[in-house]
Amino acid sequence: MTIIEGCDGECRPRVGVYALTSCYGCQLKLATVQKILEIANAVTFESFYMLSSASKMPADVDVAFVEGSVSTEKDLEELLEIRKHSRILVALGACSVNGGVQSWAEGELDYEELYSKVYGESKIDMKGLQATPISKHVEVDYYLPGCPPEEDEILYFISAFLFGTFPEPKDYPVCSECRLAGNPCILIERGEPCLGPVTTAGCKARCISFNVPCIGCRGPVPHDTAWFDSLALTFKNKGLSEEIVRHRFRIFGAHNPNLEPMLKKIYGGNK
Ligand code: SF4
Ligand code: SF4
Ligand code: SF4
Repeated sequence: MTIIEGCDGECRPRVGVYALTSCYGCQLKLATVQKILEIANAVTFESFYMLSSASKMPADVDVAFVEGSVSTEKDLEELLEIRKHSRILVALGACSVNGGVQSWAEGELDYEELYSKVYGESKIDMKGLQATPISKHVEVDYYLPGCPPEEDEILYFISAFLFGTFPEPKDYPVCSECRLAGNPCILIERGEPCLGPVTTAGCKARCISFNVPCIGCRGPVPHDTAWFDSLALTFKNKGLSEEIVRHRFRIFGAHNPNLEPMLKKIYGGNK
């Protein structure tokens, strides 16, 4: 089995790494994984501007990793071209998967209001849009979450494609990794607004290990898992209001369609 069409298993997958509106942190993470030289020997980077100025945009590739949200008309045009030229498309990082922190005003301010709040009367030489995740515009095959994604997950995705299989998403929350790491629970013990119960695992509870509550950068765990009911209800039991949880979750999850149903399930519709 191979991800490369018409290949007998000897040829190298063609890979593209692209950035829409973003901080370029996800690409930087990919470019600096410790095994980047081994990866570069195993695949052909047709497009990865951070590594090579010989990159093309778009290029015909087997796998495209797309970082960033759609925040301008140019982003949208590029994304549609990338999709047309890619067999597999992976949303790389929180901006691409969930719209990122630049989506915070979704549903609260429209683009014009947001623009004037930030830039006043100044003009810019592009057509801006309210930031959206790439899945609003094209079919996405796989989601690699995180801000930025974790090195072991990047390697897992690339290895899976190289072996001709496909990456499995995680469906359990940060809390499970937090307990394995032996951290005291700052939600239960200190009443801190930690979003670990409703956030997808994979970061080994990094923030909590530094005594900082999780702010949900990896996006929501599927909320019909067995974990959800028992742990998420702790927000209510600890006196954290629906508004506080909503506000914190919107920082990385303003486009999350599960957010309001999830809050309703926790708070029973009473604000
Ligand atoms: S997900 Fe985070 S690291 Fe990646 S581009 Fe967006 S802001 Fe930067
Ligand atoms: S709520 Fe936060 S601190 Fe408590 S177990 Fe979950 S991730 Fe860890
Ligand atoms: S603990 Fe939460 S905010 Fe911190 S890296 Fe993990 S998912 Fe992101």
